Amino acid sequence: MNFNFKEFLSSLQRESRVKECFCTSEECSPIIKKAHSIQNNRILRKISVDGHIIQLCPSFLDNKFSIDSKSIGRKIATVSTNFCDVHDTSIFLPIESKDYVKGNKEQEFLFAYRAFAKEYHVKREAKNVLENANNSSKITGNKLAPNLLGTDISLEQLEREKSIFNNSLIQREFGILATHVIELRHEYHIAASSAFVMEYDFKGNQINNLSNLDQDLKHSFLTIFPQKGKTFIIFSVFRKYRKDFSFIRKQIMNRRLDEQKMIISNLLVTHIENFVISPKIWNQLSENEKEKIKITFQESIESFTNRLYRLKDINLFLENK
Ligand SMILES: [Zn+2]
Repeated sequence: MNFNFKEFLSSLQRESRVKECFCTSEECSPIIKKAHSIQNNRILRKISVDGHIIQLCPSFLDNKFSIDSKSIGRKIATVSTNFCDVHDTSIFLPIESKDYVKGNKEQEFLFAYRAFAKEYHVKREAKNVLENANNSSKITGNKLAPNLLGTDISLEQLEREKSIFNNSLIQREFGILATHVIELRHEYHIAASSAFVMEYDFKGNQINNLSNLDQDLKHSFLTIFPQKGKTFIIFSVFRKYRKDFSFIRKQIMNRRLDEQKMIISNLLVTHIENFVISPKIWNQLSENEKEKIKITFQESIESFTNRLYRLKDINLFLENK
């Protein structure tokens, strides 16, 4: 059989798209545009070169899976069909139209909210992909049923947390989150917006038990962007989990600057799907360094083993030359 996996996957993804406002209400505008999860005008414009940024993406070559760097136009980078026009504009105004001020709870909430909304959308589409693949004649015998069960369970949690996020937004209860901010005294042209799950911290202490499906996952929300001579790295978690994340202060914030850069770089490459860097950073890396980053990324997808307590010598926080 001449089976082209790449074609099969892209047609699956097309038919599995979700177009739905994360903050559905009567005020929703009918047209849902491509919403940016990283601010296009403030951030992506700054770090792009000739309108392009670099993203690391899985690619399929000769039906083999690998990680490659892709140059992507900033207008389509990090977009998702997860907000209607009205809500995308009104909800994010405090972070789109104003600089971030450290300690501003509303802004910190909105960064986490946006990261969570993107992750929720990704999981909804992943469920559709699995369902459509399972029903496809190309895959026989209900092989994907276990994956579907796992996706259903994690979506059930995300649905609950979606309600918490939206209620908190409406009630302006921004204190549901606890936030740590790392401030670097230089503008690094790197940006991220992501909700993710850490299995272990940097010393190997367990935060989440991924094999226990009965337990809620403790998500972290991470936003990184350069602003006026600084780079902000904003970590948030639900306040009820804050003790599990005290390692952020102890294991990252108390370290030397070069160590902090290495730790965050490792975290980005192994845990964060939605991050972009300037071509100016990527082009400064040696071929060996690029290869090490791609392999680390690939290993993190394939093995499901968290290697954060064995840090690799990777640094994405390079100054523009
Ligand atoms: Zn809406």
